[in-house]
Amino acid sequence: MAQLLDGKAVSKILKEEIREEIATWKEKGVQPKLAVILVGDDPASVVYARSKQKVCEGIGMAFELFTMPSSTPEAEILATIEKLNNDQNVHGIMIELPLPKGIRKETVMAAVRPDKDVDGVHPINRGYILSGEEGLFPATPQSCIELLLRSGVEIAGKHVVIVGRGETVGKPLVFLILKHNATVTICHSKTPDLGAFTRQADILIAAVGRAKLIKKEMVKAGAIVVDAGINEIPGGICGDVDFEAVQDVAALISPVPGGVGSLTTALIMRNVLKGIVLQGGVR
Ligand code: NAP
Repeated sequence: MAQLLDGKAVSKILKEEIREEIATWKEKGVQPKLAVILVGDDPASVVYARSKQKVCEGIGMAFELFTMPSSTPEAEILATIEKLNNDQNVHGIMIELPLPKGIRKETVMAAVRPDKDVDGVHPINRGYILSGEEGLFPATPQSCIELLLRSGVEIAGKHVVIVGRGETVGKPLVFLILKHNATVTICHSKTPDLGAFTRQADILIAAVGRAKLIKKEMVKAGAIVVDAGINEIPGGICGDVDFEAVQDVAALISPVPGGVGSLTTALIMRNVLKGIVLQGGVR
């Protein structure tokens, strides 16, 4: 029976580290601050924004929520971003997605200063992932890596098979995990005989968005399985891995909920602190 990759436990440790780092910044006269822009009333986005606020309150980070009706013109959203870009007291800016119809997501994302782009979606940060330079990178792929490393898993030299090449998780993860000297295979919806690839994985990471796609017979005995998927099912959520069956063959497995997703908010906060450094630290 597999042991759990416990996202909640790792998240607790991360938040404690971030709390301490915030205290150090405060001693230097910097109050780290995250600004979140919420356009429209998408219920999930409202919940995500509020949960960030709660985490900020818990770790001593300042938080400001900018809510705008879904009828807000794009120019007004861009003007708010510009104001926050120029505000020395704001170190991280995050736009909750999805944006209402008619608002160009790419234009809005590219308007955020790269060194305040704590969601890691600006084209410059996406380029830094490829080049290996320091930048702000998306939280979910970072969560997969943190969950492994902080659970004592050696990534270097392992064959990592990633299922999913989405812009949010799979694609950035390829380059972030390459930095850890893994050998990487990436699969997607056009991969014939998915199981032939997943069975080769020492570390199998699913980032697809298809409930229980990864079955027991697709996993090598003793493999480490990280499930980044979040799928709504009657009565709750589940991952992309058939957890109940796969835990019989895997050595380590992350649950959903309680795995990858538990780390993401903390890693956004860590990006805010990295942003302060990229912005030049104490002014
Ligand atoms: P996405 O952009 O929709 O990408 C999904 C990927 O899965 C695509 O590359 C797609 O292939 C591939 N795929 C779809 N069906 C497949 C199949 N049957 N076999 C193999 N590959 C298949 O999704 P995303 O935004 O990257 O998100 C992926 C998952 O992570 C979702 O469940 C999402 O909810 C979850 N997520 C979790 C968090 C978190 O905090 N834990 C945060 C963000 C996202 P093609 O490229 O060929 O279409």
